[in-house]
Amino acid sequence: MMKSQFITSNVLLLILALCFSVSCRSLFSNNLDVTPGSEDFITCLRSHSNNFTSISQLIFTSANSSFLPIWQVAVNNARFNQPDTPKPSVIVTPVEESQIRTALLCTKKCGYEIRIRSGGHDFEGLSSTADVPFVMIDFTNMRSIDVDVANRSAWVQAGAALGQVYYSISQKTDTLYFPAGVCPSVGIGGYLGGGGYGNLMRKYGLGADNVVDVRFMDVNGDILDKNSMGEELFWAIRGGGASSFGIVLAWKLRLVPVPEKVTVFTVDKTLEEGLTEIFHKYQTVMPNIDRNLHIRIQMFGENVGNTTQKTIRMAFEGIYQGTIDTLIPLLEENFPELNVTREICEEVKMVQTSLLFGGFSTSTPTETLANRSAINTLNFKGKSDYIREPISIDGLKKIWEKIFENDGSDTFSCIKPHQGGMMSEFSETAILVFLNTLECFRPIFQTVDLANQPSYTQHQHNPLAQEIG
Ligand SMILES: Cc1cc2nc3c(=O)[nH]c(=O)nc-3n(C[C@H](O)[C@H](O)[C@H](O)COP(=O)(O)OP(=O)(O)OC[C@H]3O[C@@H](n4cnc5c(N)ncnc54)[C@H](O)[C@@H]3O)c2cc1C
Repeated sequence: MMKSQFITSNVLLLILALCFSVSCRSLFSNNLDVTPGSEDFITCLRSHSNNFTSISQLIFTSANSSFLPIWQVAVNNARFNQPDTPKPSVIVTPVEESQIRTALLCTKKCGYEIRIRSGGHDFEGLSSTADVPFVMIDFTNMRSIDVDVANRSAWVQAGAALGQVYYSISQKTDTLYFPAGVCPSVGIGGYLGGGGYGNLMRKYGLGADNVVDVRFMDVNGDILDKNSMGEELFWAIRGGGASSFGIVLAWKLRLVPVPEKVTVFTVDKTLEEGLTEIFHKYQTVMPNIDRNLHIRIQMFGENVGNTTQKTIRMAFEGIYQGTIDTLIPLLEENFPELNVTREICEEVKMVQTSLLFGGFSTSTPTETLANRSAINTLNFKGKSDYIREPISIDGLKKIWEKIFENDGSDTFSCIKPHQGGMMSEFSETAILVFLNTLECFRPIFQTVDLANQPSYTQHQHNPLAQEIG
């Protein structure tokens, strides 16, 4: 009797074990390897998915050989791409909105935090790493772009990069564009969530000023648009960091008119060529000049020739929505010190300016903008501050001294977006981003150990700027 009971219970155990292994095999089919600890999330996904087989191909845990490459591919700052950087417990790369909802609900149910990644350019790595167990939803498979030339608009899924947006528009028209940023690999998801400045802002405002609608998933998995979410949430997600409030699925963009040909130029000036006075004048000229003109500055600390004497070089990179014939008299009248001549100007299509500002020549095939792997990863952190009055000549000289003191490398780069134009017409609360910004006047030397730098965000205050008054 005892023996038959023993046999029966053993058979039962065997049957249970078989059932379990069968269910596990079907559960984790399609080569889905599961790290211990993430089974709860996978089990939840399975029970809430209509088609687990298809979603299982979009899920990666560290037991899966694709996990690390998928995580690394959009870590756009090398200081976060380290072996000891905390990685997600699970990466989900959805192809449709319902899969995002399922992943969101399971993340909540299983007690994970969630991180959303679009282009992966977050200066603090917020989309790729966290100090707590987390699930990453990576929009890499959701990048479709639907350009509607007749209605001057485009629906863009959150995973698209700015370069893809520019390229897609240029495939349909040369006379419409989206006023967004200079780096083609920045994701539209994070870019618009932070406000988004760019080369056309003096004429058309920030990227976020040109968002006309959104598809947005709230914490309950409900999908909202501009009308159903209400004015306040629509205001908050365009500048206040959309991931604080939910998940942007797609943005609807207003496309703005641009001339068929625009003019670009670059002029370099060093301290020996009167840079201090030229930059000082730049600060007062640019906010009031014709809003078709934008001049970005990149700044470099370097040696004079082969000597050990240090200098500052600034590259004044201009983009003008007009012809060379109208640009030259405009600059001769307002800013002759820059000495922009006809010979250094080039008339190009707007999409070619995105190549140029993205680090390519204007003759590079425009498809390059849509190819993320063609764009170099940059290891830098941008910092911003508000400057309402022009910096005095003495203030500028103090900045140069600071730059020379902070040695260890002889180069750094810095962008100084001037505003004015349409940017002066918005009220301070119109949108949740930085206005009148002097960006990154805290020099970031290439050899600086970024991991040990204090943390700044676009909205925080820069002590160096405070010091120079
Ligand atoms: C090389 C470089 C160049 C830059 N150039 C410019 C520029 O010209 N103009 C400018 O304004 N800024 C610029 N930036 C700053 C950039 O706009 C911000 O870092 C932006 O947040 C990056 O967005 P992302 O999607 O690439 O990054 P991600 O790291 O993917 O996301 C950034 C933040 O947005 C959140 N997020 C991403 N997708 C979503 C989503 N679908 N729903 C909700 N939240 C989401 C993330 O969780 C994270 O908190 C630049 C940054 C770098 C590194």
